[in-house]
Amino acid sequence: MATDPDREGEAIAWHIVDALNLDVSSTKRVVFNQITKNAVETAFENSKQIDDYLVEAYKARAIQDKVWGFMMSQTLWPTIKRNLSAGRVQSPTLGEIDKKEKEIQSFVPEEYWSIDSRFQISQKSEPLQIPLKKIINADQTINVESRELKTEQESIIHTEALNNAKFSVSDINTKERRSNPPQPLRTSTLQQQAFRRFRFNSSRTMSLAQQLYQGIDLGAGEGQVGLITYMRTDSNNLSNEVISDISDFVTQKFSKSYLQVKKNSKSVQGAQEAHEAIRPTYISRTPESLRNDLDQDQFKLYQLIWNNTVASQMAAAIYDRTTFEITANTQDSDTQYVFSFSGDVLKFDGFKKIITDQDSDDEIPDLKEHQELKCIEVLPEQRFTKPPSRYNEASLVNFMESVGIGRPSTYASTIKTLIDKKYIERKTGALHITALGSVVSEFLHEHYSDLMSYEFTAQMEKQLDDIAQGDTELQSVLNSSYDPFVENVVHVYETADRVDRTRLLVFTGEKCPQCDKGLTRKEDYNFLFDGCSDFPNCTYTQDITTGSMCPDCEDQPELWINEEPGKITINKYRGSLFYGCSNYRKEAGLNVGCKFSSGQLPLEYPKYKCPDCGDLLLFSGRGGVNVRCKKKNYRLPEESRCGFSVKKSDFLIDEDADQ
Ligand SMILES: [Zn+2]
Ligand SMILES: [Zn+2]
Ligand SMILES: [Zn+2]
Repeated sequence: MATDPDREGEAIAWHIVDALNLDVSSTKRVVFNQITKNAVETAFENSKQIDDYLVEAYKARAIQDKVWGFMMSQTLWPTIKRNLSAGRVQSPTLGEIDKKEKEIQSFVPEEYWSIDSRFQISQKSEPLQIPLKKIINADQTINVESRELKTEQESIIHTEALNNAKFSVSDINTKERRSNPPQPLRTSTLQQQAFRRFRFNSSRTMSLAQQLYQGIDLGAGEGQVGLITYMRTDSNNLSNEVISDISDFVTQKFSKSYLQVKKNSKSVQGAQEAHEAIRPTYISRTPESLRNDLDQDQFKLYQLIWNNTVASQMAAAIYDRTTFEITANTQDSDTQYVFSFSGDVLKFDGFKKIITDQDSDDEIPDLKEHQELKCIEVLPEQRFTKPPSRYNEASLVNFMESVGIGRPSTYASTIKTLIDKKYIERKTGALHITALGSVVSEFLHEHYSDLMSYEFTAQMEKQLDDIAQGDTELQSVLNSSYDPFVENVVHVYETADRVDRTRLLVFTGEKCPQCDKGLTRKEDYNFLFDGCSDFPNCTYTQDITTGSMCPDCEDQPELWINEEPGKITINKYRGSLFYGCSNYRKEAGLNVGCKFSSGQLPLEYPKYKCPDCGDLLLFSGRGGVNVRCKKKNYRLPEESRCGFSVKKSDFLIDEDADQ
């Protein structure tokens, strides 16, 4: 049984043995976290029995999640809406996103002021704009940098004083600053980095990592090669074997001074198993050497992992940071104004040999202590504090890890569940809570406050870890939580009030043409349209159009059942979206009008047309990364097919075209 090296893998192995009725004592378990010849051979030399503790821990999780999720969901259906779900990990995560949204909504911006001055340093160079840091009075210090300058009135007084002041350099000092290399990657940090750098969502990152782990065909006699170690891990540690490979690589490629091997750190709190960090299986396979064997996204992820792993054992980069302090001498000698700024110059690049990033050298002006400076302009500016930001996939995974809800194997699937259930949605990179999500979160907080608390969830994870270690038993963990939970569920079921359904309406921003009330989006498994919010008093409904015209009936008025050319609309059938024509209707079981239909999102027609045949274009490929002609369809007779198909990025300059 060579399933994945974690609890789920252990449980799968156990189930296979059970289902096939194999002899447990003679059926061996092999575990490897990289698919390389060495690792697999070693695993077979060290085969063991299936670890019952791990299987028990897995069962405890599965039972709890099923029982709890199922029972809590049953209390959501009659009070909010059918088919809703709740769960031990998804619900506290949803609660956090809701809490953040409420913080943003209730945020009151606070006014503060900044004052910059522009100085002419030399005749040749551009003026330098430097911020005021502090105003020092006999009785108080106003820390301008920390937003302590609050009003326009104050800022006018200080600006006037500065307009009549003389400026000089009061202090110059240079200190060494070190920039430390990153740690090796674990699941959470891999997902965060891949999102920050490439905007991969966490499911995409995990599926790419899975491909690299299982192996890529490198051809030329090598065949399928596993390129990275197992990607579900909460460990930052590297094995001695790979550290020695990195040492050889860095010493040969750069020099010994670039090498700085780190001691293995203790793993993050509550780490599940003694895994290794995510790393390349062979350091000698540099990203460049694999460029032709990987597709673009695989390459990006492999490069991220390789760079991080090698850089983690390299020396820090060292900068000289020079800080200049400029003081203003005003008529009022009791008040002192301090401006300051600093710039970095790279002295030793260290790990930046591998991870090059935006921060290049700053320009350091040639200034001497006590030198007088000519101020050209004093620039007061009104500012306002900003509300907290919404979570994105990276910061949400970071949050889940920091409070101990979820595990490496569940970060991506939890976010996916919340999106699938329409509790949250991705919009321009951030995760927004929906009206439904907010109602569900409030309901759960009101009735299951225990379960929604992070301490409780983290405590549960700890108990699962204890079962995995053999320190406690499945039965006792389940017993202690089951009875009080069931009592609570029954109480909620019997007493909870039905939630006000108008709170679930999703307004589109458009007005109903019949009664002027707001239109709302109606969406379920089998339908999708906009309807009047005053239903059932007003029964107005309309199709949702995509902004594209229909290519099939534009010249065929006999197909126009709406007396105008068709527009492409979004519809739903058996849970999946498809695109049809507004000139289509089912009448008495018959299809009437234009039968245009596509499972893929059309590009706006006629703004975009196939350059070969002039027909409609569709986004295709996973995630809509390609653009192809509608007539590429293989079901068409060969002579009427069109072969046009290119990468979206080659066709549309605006890569963010709405999808
Ligand atoms: Zn209406
Ligand atoms: Zn049509
Ligand atoms: Zn075409």
